[in-house]
Amino acid sequence: PWLARPETVRLFEALSGETGATRAVGGAVRDALLGLPVSDVDFATTIVPEKVIARARKAGLKAIPTGIAHGTVTVVVDGVSFEVTTLRHDVETFGRHATVAFTEDWAEDAARRDFTLNALYAGMDGTLFDPLGGYPDLVAGRIRFIGDPASRIKEDYLRILRFFRFNAWYGRGPFDAAGLSACVRARAGMRRLSAERVASEVKRLLVAPRAAEAMSVLFDHGLICDILGGVPRLTRFARLIGIEDALDRQPSAILRLAALAVFVPEDAKRLARRFKLSNAEQAQLALGGVPFDEALPDEAAAKRKLYALGPDAYTARVMLAWATGDAPVTDPDWHRAATLAARWEAPVFPLRGTDIAALGKFSGPEIGAMLREAEQRWIDGGFAEDREGLLALARELAGVP
Ligand code: ATP
Ligand code: MG
Repeated sequence: PWLARPETVRLFEALSGETGATRAVGGAVRDALLGLPVSDVDFATTIVPEKVIARARKAGLKAIPTGIAHGTVTVVVDGVSFEVTTLRHDVETFGRHATVAFTEDWAEDAARRDFTLNALYAGMDGTLFDPLGGYPDLVAGRIRFIGDPASRIKEDYLRILRFFRFNAWYGRGPFDAAGLSACVRARAGMRRLSAERVASEVKRLLVAPRAAEAMSVLFDHGLICDILGGVPRLTRFARLIGIEDALDRQPSAILRLAALAVFVPEDAKRLARRFKLSNAEQAQLALGGVPFDEALPDEAAAKRKLYALGPDAYTARVMLAWATGDAPVTDPDWHRAATLAARWEAPVFPLRGTDIAALGKFSGPEIGAMLREAEQRWIDGGFAEDREGLLALARELAGVP
């Protein structure tokens, strides 16, 4: 069905003057073959970029030369953007900054890609083109480098992380031995990678279904410290994944990172710098520093916590506390605490500064202090007091009859 989407069909029609000139490639083909949802579709074509632009425009589509040096044109069809890249082969490789030349040979284009399962192409009619045996590898859950792993890694050390990322997403059984040992031997090269590229791969690795296995393989081979710069907490990481499952929650890269690598505030700061996290992400990461003995909150304590932190931070914090301790991931009491935000909405404190000011006894900072005092009593009383009761309390505190 992804090939039959109207936008995809329009793109194919605009760019297939000669039969088979344009094919979908990479992640979309791979995911479709696995029956997974397909989001963005990339295209490969034998048509040179200038002609891609001309043909797209002739068909009434917007075409933007977004990466013309690499032969990439972005074509927009009914608001959906597609990257269309002319077939190329690497002439001289230096990282991803290889000097490229265009070609009409599909097998050459396939050979410069990273893993066999990423070198799959699909024609407009759904015909699979698999020059390197990627399909059997995909079915077997085998992540295999194209060509000699060591030399492919030397061209771009990010492929080490991609090896783990694709294993965590699509792998089954043990990791390909030749690929793994080449990654381990070349690990020092990762230091040359930019923080952005590493962070983006690691975030995608963190949310993979088999992230826990991939992390323990990284750990067993001494690679994880190179990436996170600290001592990982593999058990807590695996437990958090189990808890997400038990709660039926979508994985969050930052929460998983917090579980894996944050012991103390310094860890969170260092990782935030390394991965250039946003302020919101930093705040979430810092939640990982829960004390090892943080107890299961009873209902009243849980409500106070939820009121103070807000639903998202509260839930993240409880999940991390649960993962930090050793209660089973099936524990019904922790489950209840972790799902409180879905059952209970924190009330809004019913008094305002103007209510205190109206008592005529206080001004400025005193009003704030009074308000906080009243709010604290309201919280301690289980949020039970209503506005009338709180006004009476304020009068009492102020000594007003
Ligand atoms: P995803 O679903 O994660 O986007 P993808 O396979 O589309 O998966 P991208 O990173 O979007 O991954 O890259 C698109 C394609 O470009 C890949 O399928 C692969 O063929 C090729 N590619 C991307 N990065 C590299 C790399 N570092 N080295 C070699 N080939 C790469
Ligand atoms: Mg992609």
